[in-house]
Amino acid sequence: MDFSSKLLENAVYEVSQLPGIGKRTALRLVLHLLRQPQEQTQRLSFALQEMRDQIKHCKNCHNISDVDICDICNNPSRDRSIICVVEDIRDVMAIENTSQYRGLYHVLGGKISPMEGVGPHDLTINSLVEKVKGGQVAELIFALSSTMEGDTTNFYIYKQIEAFDVKTSTIARGIAVGDELEYADEVTLGRSILNRVPFENSLKSS
Ligand SMILES: [Zn+2]
Repeated sequence: MDFSSKLLENAVYEVSQLPGIGKRTALRLVLHLLRQPQEQTQRLSFALQEMRDQIKHCKNCHNISDVDICDICNNPSRDRSIICVVEDIRDVMAIENTSQYRGLYHVLGGKISPMEGVGPHDLTINSLVEKVKGGQVAELIFALSSTMEGDTTNFYIYKQIEAFDVKTSTIARGIAVGDELEYADEVTLGRSILNRVPFENSLKSS
């Protein structure tokens, strides 16, 4: 692309660094901003900058939060003995939308993936194992997507906590292997949480 303006070119380049945004889409978005009042761009830049500078991760569940301990962990009516293990905030949002779950979460921050160079120590697995060792956890619910990486991660965690007195279960999502949790509809997902199965059963079937 031949730009008549270096300023425009820089802006298009930065926007095109976002996933799924090619150079053409980036140019369209930037030209759109140019046609809008200047305040819109200021609000956009400010929102992004403020989020990046001030965002925290909950010290207990590692979910993205504005405060040290998130609203879910802070809620006295949640059952602290059940922990649902998820990959990221999108899973928390999906499960919260079902209104079928009253326990806490543990956000791993990804899945073990040798292909992408993500090992167990890049995730918050140690902190989860420590919680289980602390003896306050009665049940862990694995709710990672049913991909090879998801299964590997579940199994890795299971091996770490097998020796402790904790029940493990997995949500029977009733959706095709490889489908991401965030795409399951609320009713299906809600039912899966209520009808979760012991994790050991999922090992026998595979
Ligand atoms: Zn939390």
